[in-house]
Amino acid sequence: MKAEIIAVGTELLLGQIVNTNAQFLSQELAALGIDVYYQTVVGDNPGRIQSAIETARSRADLLVFTGGLGPTQDDLTKDVLAAYLNRGMSIHGPSMEQIEKLFSSRGIHMVESNKRQAHTIDGAEPLFNEAGLAVGNGLSVDGTHYLLLPGPPREMKPMMEGAGRQWIRQALGESQPLYSRVLRFAGIGESNLEAKLLDLIDGQSDPTLAPYAKEGEVAIRVSTKAATEQEAVRKIDATVQAVKDRVGEHLYAQEDIPLEEAVVRLLRATRRTMVSAESCSGGLFAELVTNVPGSSGEFAGGVVTYTNVMKHQLLGIPMTQLEGEGAPGAISESTAALMAERIRELADSDFGISLTGVAGPAESEGKPVGLVYFAIAERGKPTDVHTTHLSGSRSIIRVRAVKAALYRLWQ
Ligand code: ATP
Ligand code: MG
Repeated sequence: MKAEIIAVGTELLLGQIVNTNAQFLSQELAALGIDVYYQTVVGDNPGRIQSAIETARSRADLLVFTGGLGPTQDDLTKDVLAAYLNRGMSIHGPSMEQIEKLFSSRGIHMVESNKRQAHTIDGAEPLFNEAGLAVGNGLSVDGTHYLLLPGPPREMKPMMEGAGRQWIRQALGESQPLYSRVLRFAGIGESNLEAKLLDLIDGQSDPTLAPYAKEGEVAIRVSTKAATEQEAVRKIDATVQAVKDRVGEHLYAQEDIPLEEAVVRLLRATRRTMVSAESCSGGLFAELVTNVPGSSGEFAGGVVTYTNVMKHQLLGIPMTQLEGEGAPGAISESTAALMAERIRELADSDFGISLTGVAGPAESEGKPVGLVYFAIAERGKPTDVHTTHLSGSRSIIRVRAVKAALYRLWQ
């Protein structure tokens, strides 16, 4: 099964918006086990939309359109496809009702063109738009499948994830459903991970392994088709075991959760708490951890002690430690250790985490960009201090530093 994504919209060609829909749809189709061979972008022009359809038909079996389902004169996707297929269009009742209801509830007059959004090509399955007005269409003609989705991502995504996926499965006569599991890794880069799993990725046929980078971490989607869930689980488990044999120490979850969530869950399971004192990461550690719902049980809080004065006033770190002739400085192993220990004591937590370093772009205290110390002070144990040399922009260094500390905690 070969698919082509056709994004319709002159604003895409003008560079006014980024074609994020193509990225999303490619991922969706990959997860359905469908190979995307081409992504096309075409403007709001009937002749060129038609030629895009002709070209796509000659090289793909499934054409997924996004954009041009709206009410205005430049929204042409359905009209052009209907004309190309020699089909008429009719009004989809529930969508029409929704449109009328919206206008009457707002007390505004509905211009005639709005009805166009309820149009369905004859023979197509209407895909109800839960987040907007324009109805989607799914249609199979002479062995080619056409899926028409709206342009606005907040309408397109839910339609694809719901009715769109379902329509594709049914239209392609999917006998066996696709099962997949996401594996998440930390403490290893994407290329390094791929290198270690190269034999598995190259030799793969079933299940398939698809690596991708995600929020400063790496993930792999393992997918297989199987008659029953039990069989799928057995096949995926066997592949996961092979992955574990190679990079088991980096695999922190067999579901799509970020590292901070894995850490919070681990603390919850062992009934322990943590607290943070941050310098170069400016509160990012606290930000990521508090993004995890319910983390207040495990995360007491955090402070951002950016200047030496704050490190001294809030954490009681002696000024002689931080500055002056012969002082280790704010960016040092010993300061990282003190920050972690002091904040842990202050909050009476099980773990105190600190980060201090140079996020860049300029060096600081004569220390190079990317040098970050982080420390983990655990109750009743000697403090664990780590030195990392990170690369990337200021924001990337901050994310990597926080993820490195989280990874250490998870271990
Ligand atoms: P509307 O009812 O809003 O007119 P539509 O289905 O006709 O929806 P378009 O007119 O093509 O879609 O696009 C509407 C808006 O949706 C665009 O201005 C843009 O913000 C967003 N959009 C459209 N296509 C894409 C795309 N490929 N990637 C990301 N955003 C898009
Ligand atoms: Mg439009």
